[in-house]
Amino acid sequence: MIKEFIQLVYPDYCSGCNQQLQFSETGICSSCLVEVRNYSLIASNIPFGRNIVMKEIYVFKNFKNPLIQKMIYEIKYNGNKSTAYTLGVELGSLIKRSKKVVDFDIIIPVPVSKLKKQQRGYNQCQLIAEGVSNIIKTPIISNYLIRNNNMTSQVKSSRYNRWLNVDNDYQLIKELKNGIRILLIDDVVTTGATINSCLNAIQKNKKFNITVAALAGNKFT
Ligand SMILES: [Zn+2]
Repeated sequence: MIKEFIQLVYPDYCSGCNQQLQFSETGICSSCLVEVRNYSLIASNIPFGRNIVMKEIYVFKNFKNPLIQKMIYEIKYNGNKSTAYTLGVELGSLIKRSKKVVDFDIIIPVPVSKLKKQQRGYNQCQLIAEGVSNIIKTPIISNYLIRNNNMTSQVKSSRYNRWLNVDNDYQLIKELKNGIRILLIDDVVTTGATINSCLNAIQKNKKFNITVAALAGNKFT
C-alpha cells in the first residue's frame, strides 16, 4: 500500500529500458529481467593471477553489453540501490542452480574504501550480496576484508601500474576459519585485477575454496 502510494507520487523507472515499472517490479522491468537471464555464465577452475577459483558465475558474461552497462551505471553513479538488490537476487538464483556442485559457508562482498562509501552512501557489492544471500541463505561477512583509503589516481596510471596499485589496497583484518568455503561478490569483473587482489589478501596465509560471482564478467564468447 505504502509502496503503491510512493510510486504514484514518484514513479519508478526501469534502469535498463527507462519504462515505468509496474507495482510488482523493483529496479528492473520483467522484460529486461528476461533479457538478463539470456546472458549468464557459470565456469569452473578459473585462474585469477596466481589464484585458481572453483567457479565464476556472472549474470551477464560480457560487461560490454549496453543493457548491463546502463544498469551498472545506475547502480554505481545514480544511487539506484533497488537495481543492485534485484540483480543480486538474479545472481542468487543462478548460484542456487549451480549449488549441486558447490556450496558456501560465507559471502564476502568486495569492499569499497570508506571515502567511496561516504561519497556513494553505500557499497553496491554489499547490496548485490544481500540479494544473493536472500536466495541462497548464506550469511554475509563484511567486516573481515577491507579496502584501504590510500587510492592513487587510477585513471592516469598504466594498466600494469594499476594492477600493482590495486594489489595493496585490500586487507584481511580478521582470521577466517580453515577450509571455509567462500563466495566473493563483485559488481563487475573487467581486468580481474580487483578480484586477484582480494584473493591475494584473503589467501595470504591459508588457502580457501573460493567462488567468484558478479553481475557482469569479461567473457566474450
Ligand atoms: Zn526494462
